[in-house]
Amino acid sequence: MLKEMNIKVAQLSTSRGCLANCSFCVTKLYHKAWRGRSAVRMVDEIEDLKKRYGIRAFNIIDCSFEDPQISGERLKEFSSEILRRNLVISYYVHLRAESLKDVDINLLKLLKKSGLVTACIGLESGNEEDLKLYHKRASLSDVMNAIDICKKLDIHIDPGFINFNPYTTIQKLDQNINFLKKYGYASNPDYLLKSTFLYKGTQLYELAKKDNLMLRKIEKGRCFRFMEHGIVDLYNYVYEYLKEHEQNKLNYPAICHSASFLNVGISCMKHLLREDGFKSALEVLLEYCRDVLKINNSLNERNSDWFSALIELGKEGWNREKADNLSRKILPQEFLSESALKYSFLKQRLKIQMTKCNVSLELVYLINAILF
Ligand code: SF4
Repeated sequence: MLKEMNIKVAQLSTSRGCLANCSFCVTKLYHKAWRGRSAVRMVDEIEDLKKRYGIRAFNIIDCSFEDPQISGERLKEFSSEILRRNLVISYYVHLRAESLKDVDINLLKLLKKSGLVTACIGLESGNEEDLKLYHKRASLSDVMNAIDICKKLDIHIDPGFINFNPYTTIQKLDQNINFLKKYGYASNPDYLLKSTFLYKGTQLYELAKKDNLMLRKIEKGRCFRFMEHGIVDLYNYVYEYLKEHEQNKLNYPAICHSASFLNVGISCMKHLLREDGFKSALEVLLEYCRDVLKINNSLNERNSDWFSALIELGKEGWNREKADNLSRKILPQEFLSESALKYSFLKQRLKIQMTKCNVSLELVYLINAILF
């Protein structure tokens, strides 16, 4: 929390450990069992931070907010207590996809009402094989179900996704890009490039080490070799193409940030403006969201078409010249920089319009922290 910068967002840790055991994750190395504070003590801390510092946006950094059991009493008590004390806050949590399989929808509605605006969910993959490799408890249908439920309840998902791992194949990439495109996540080019980091001691690290796939140092953002011949050309090309964009100062990070549609901060602002009854500011924000969605949709199409075309090229035999031609045709650098400019224009417009709306000082702080 950076009080001196008027950034009024607090991180809160209410538990340690996770009941799952994903093969790339270090949590189990540090916390063998789950332990957590009571719901009442969690809300006491929130109330105290709100009273003392005016904080109303909370990032709950627990590995899995739903442990030890999503249908248990802890979450119900937590959300009921926030509502009972009329705290009017917004919060961000981490959830697992399979937990939403048999969840009582009324509990989710209660959480939403109490301020749950964003759930970071480790979707991780668009293919079953990789979900098994990662030892995810969720199947692909659980993942898709989680997305659908959150969408229905207007809970924003901040997705965890791993496109590349040492055992990546062309077929898996094909499935991943179709998945990303279907849900609009391909608008963020970062997801195309995401590779798993292999931490020493994790199950996936040990497997890759046994298969002699570990690199001595990080190369182009990854610490492993690919088992399947040919993947490396595709990966390196995507990496260089997107990083070239960054080097040209065409604002690649800004694209990635803005393209995470209705990103964490926007969801939080939407909730607080609505709860506080700032109708005109909310309308301004919703207009911004609608315009961002248009840019995102076109990025989603282009990015995924580009990546799919590169996959097809990988299938027939990698050829750098053909790859360059495809990139110029489908995803020219000009298109990316135009998108970055459009995002930046919308942000500036939002900033100007917001300053004209009569919102409370604490929300002005929050808006500044989130947007600018
Ligand atoms: S669900 Fe998240 S925190 Fe838990 S083991 Fe998997 S990656 Fe780690």
